[in-house]
Amino acid sequence: MEILRRGLMLVLSSPSGAGKTTISRMLLERDANLCMSVSVTTRPARPGEVHGRDYYFIDPGEFERMVEAGALLEHALVFGNRYGTPKAAVEQMLAAGRDVLFDIDWQGTQQLGEKARDDLVSVFVLPPSTAELERRLRTRAADSEEEVQRRMSKAADEMSHWAEYQYVIVNRDLQDSVAKVQAILTAERLKRDRQSGLSEFVRDLREGG
Ligand code: 5GP
Repeated sequence: MEILRRGLMLVLSSPSGAGKTTISRMLLERDANLCMSVSVTTRPARPGEVHGRDYYFIDPGEFERMVEAGALLEHALVFGNRYGTPKAAVEQMLAAGRDVLFDIDWQGTQQLGEKARDDLVSVFVLPPSTAELERRLRTRAADSEEEVQRRMSKAADEMSHWAEYQYVIVNRDLQDSVAKVQAILTAERLKRDRQSGLSEFVRDLREGG
């Protein structure tokens, strides 16, 4: 008999280049119950990015309409572009008993914390060093030199929020980092309060049912 469980919201934040996107992709491949929240953004697509998979690329007018309609669970301005989490998709996934993964910044994490503290599991991913962070930003190659410099200086800002997160992972080794997030997910799913069907299950056990 399956025990009913409330879905959780797993947030991964980090400065650009710390490896969070790769960790997210690997988590989604390995965990059938986890699905991704696809954000809307006003920034242009990078080469290789797919509308509807990586982001929904929308214009500022449409973004503003979504804000005004209350269609976003959270939203923030990052590097001069607007980003937000569409509410309806997240609610559908949680209602279906799925856990939802968010790749959002500290501003969005704070807003989700205000709205759904009990359902939120927050993880901050740090790069192993500044040199490695810069190397990763450069090898990504999609961004201009100016963009790389902008993101390097922004990384320091983003990292100053590490202490607001429940868990912190230093991404020295990708496989190891993914295993750590999986361990967090496993433990969080077992939390008594999240296993909403537990009292029923134990009652049946005690009654020999
Ligand atoms: P990028 O442009 O490199 O894809 O993302 C830049 C930053 O915006 C990353 O830190 C990413 O986590 C954050 N971000 C992406 N989507 C959202 C969102 O929906 N809300 C918030 N608050 N941040 C987001």
